Amino acid sequence: MLNLIYHIETYGCQMNLYDSAAARTLLDQAGCRETEDPEQAQLMVINSCAVRGHAEERVLGRVGELKSWKRRGPGRLMVLMGCVGQENGQQLLERFAQLDLVLGTESYREITRHLESFLTTKERAAATGLKKAGPDKRIVPSFEKQVSAFLAVMRGCDNFCSYCIVPYVRGREYSRPSRDILGEMKCLAERGIKEVTLVGQNVNSYLSAGTDFPALLARAADVPGIERIRFITSHPKDCGIKLLKTMAGHQKICRHLHLPLQSGSDRILSLMNRSYTLGQYRATVDTARELMPDLVLTSDLIAGFPGESEEDFQMTLEAMQDIRFDSAFTYKYSIRPGTKAAQMPGQLGDEVRQDRLARMISLQQGISLESNQADIGKTLTVLVEKAVPQRGQMMGRSHGNKPVAFDGASGVSPGDIVKVRVNKATQSTLIGSML
Ligand code: SAH
Ligand code: SF4
Repeated sequence: MLNLIYHIETYGCQMNLYDSAAARTLLDQAGCRETEDPEQAQLMVINSCAVRGHAEERVLGRVGELKSWKRRGPGRLMVLMGCVGQENGQQLLERFAQLDLVLGTESYREITRHLESFLTTKERAAATGLKKAGPDKRIVPSFEKQVSAFLAVMRGCDNFCSYCIVPYVRGREYSRPSRDILGEMKCLAERGIKEVTLVGQNVNSYLSAGTDFPALLARAADVPGIERIRFITSHPKDCGIKLLKTMAGHQKICRHLHLPLQSGSDRILSLMNRSYTLGQYRATVDTARELMPDLVLTSDLIAGFPGESEEDFQMTLEAMQDIRFDSAFTYKYSIRPGTKAAQMPGQLGDEVRQDRLARMISLQQGISLESNQADIGKTLTVLVEKAVPQRGQMMGRSHGNKPVAFDGASGVSPGDIVKVRVNKATQSTLIGSML
């Protein structure tokens, strides 16, 4: 037994939130106890993100800062896990004397064994094997006091989009057996979770013993107690009619599709190795909207990919205007060592990339506001997440995943599903009253 008081800080995507929750379960099983306050902690766990240079710098900056935390408490321990750990392994131990252990994106499952071994031998170590052990069934991640949870259905990525570091730090695709996933979902339901988001780098390529992603979704929709099912992320090349029909056919599967477009120029899409054209993407969106008129469509877009001309960039802006994403994550291209795009000619300077990103953001802000304003007067079904006491309101999310703030909510608790009439809208939030 370790019996340590620990604090976890998580950077990055939903997969990292899931992994942190799994690490929490493992530490708790070893007699540890979590604290929100780093000053109370004997063990600091940083779960890191490497998807863009900026994310990585933030994590490394935080590790640098924590040197004094470590010094202030003799015997304090510090572990870095996640994608930056996977990417840089041993080098991090050399650079940061305050790190005791570096664990990769798969080896974190052995966190307690590594800690025990460090406490006995005092030997600092980096463990970055990518052997897919398969998530252990004992690790049902801890999402306590929450209404929603993440559930990893597959891990890794085989797509090798030319800009992306994920296939290198998360390894090859691996789909978990469907019975483990459904078993985990039942455990989550028993703990009072109402909404489960199935996560994977590319959930559409889920395949385990003949069960594909639409079949998995349909079975997930039958798990009693889980009221809503979401999933991220879908790759446009694999987002077929079967998936869209499955969504349309099940009320518990939320009317939200996150479908990263990345660029509106076919030339750039090809350089990105995305395997679809704008026309094909558009056709998928048209079918999805025909089947689900109330669908909320969100996307990821990259500004300033190597070789992107102003004309290519204009095509992205036109695609955004034409498709009208309800919201989108917009990113400035970030060079990632070891990726194909890092070697490409035509790398753009920061000023150009920043300027394009700013134009993209400003266009999307207007479209997001219009999308939200179009909901004024509608009655939406909202899953209540938390109270906002300072405003006397509650917060929740619509079926399409839009944040909704509402009043008139006496006697309502997180986890309840209520009807809210939308009276006002900002670019990011719908505001209404409970009916
Ligand atoms: N597997 C998912 C998510 C990948 S990472 C998918 O394919 O959509 C999330 C987003 O980060 C990507 O969709 C992409 O828009 C962005 N991204 C990834 N690498 C990037 C890079 N090097 N520079 C800028 N944005 C990047
Ligand atoms: Fe990265 Fe592309 Fe895989 Fe998404 S699909 S994780 S962008 S390589």
